[in-house]
Amino acid sequence: MTATTVGEIRIDPVLDGILRTPPEHALIRPGDDDAWAAHADLLDADGMLPLPVGGYLVRTGERVILVDAGLGPLTGDGISCGELLDNLAALGYQPGDITDVLLTHLHFDHVGWVAQKGVVVFERATYRCHEQDWAHFVTAPDAAEGARRKLTPIADRLEPFAGDTTIATGVDTRDAPGHTPGSTVVVVSSGEERALLLGDVVHCPFEFTEPDWEALFDVDPKLAQRTREALAREVENTDVRMVGAHFDGMTFGRLISSGAGTQWRNDATAG
Ligand SMILES: [Zn+2]
Repeated sequence: MTATTVGEIRIDPVLDGILRTPPEHALIRPGDDDAWAAHADLLDADGMLPLPVGGYLVRTGERVILVDAGLGPLTGDGISCGELLDNLAALGYQPGDITDVLLTHLHFDHVGWVAQKGVVVFERATYRCHEQDWAHFVTAPDAAEGARRKLTPIADRLEPFAGDTTIATGVDTRDAPGHTPGSTVVVVSSGEERALLLGDVVHCPFEFTEPDWEALFDVDPKLAQRTREALAREVENTDVRMVGAHFDGMTFGRLISSGAGTQWRNDATAG
């Protein structure tokens, strides 16, 4: 896990653990049952797709912002999580040091540590998510009981946003609907530099170059696809670096297009 800087702002991946899933339970290419064969390099020896789960710590100088809050202490059934607070401590931060918890969306693997046993974990933080996700996952009559129970404890500390919003100097949200109604990309900028925290708008970088994949948990797969494609067009061949919540190694990269087509290039090999 490598830290990155965006001008004056530092971003550290904070791993909570690994979620191992059959790949076709995460991403499918409709009409192509064998699509994963082309990406076997991403699978482990058992043919499972290991997805890192956690969050990103964004330090602006004024604020200490945790973007997404992992899955929480849970092991079994392909899940091995629960390290987020230890990994925050290794960076020198206790839960009470976090000023803001910014949630890209409210799926279970992004909100695990917002509260434990009904008690808010980041006791001084303001919690932030898109109001449409709060409605979908918490206040809707058909909201799932598990999500409602997990998220209700933060209601008093919640400042929901609607549409593109400035959270702090150099930290902005951008609507990126489809995966969930309020799915959000976090834009980090300082000076001339810019980076995007994509949440689950993209699970694996190849979705940028093979746009017909769908995430099984997309609430609106077609809208998610349009959101992804618009984003790719905007950032290809720019210096904007991006990382998804579940990218391999939580590694940032860029989209480069040339006569040979569009390619994803991890930061480590960017040249
Ligand atoms: Zn996720």
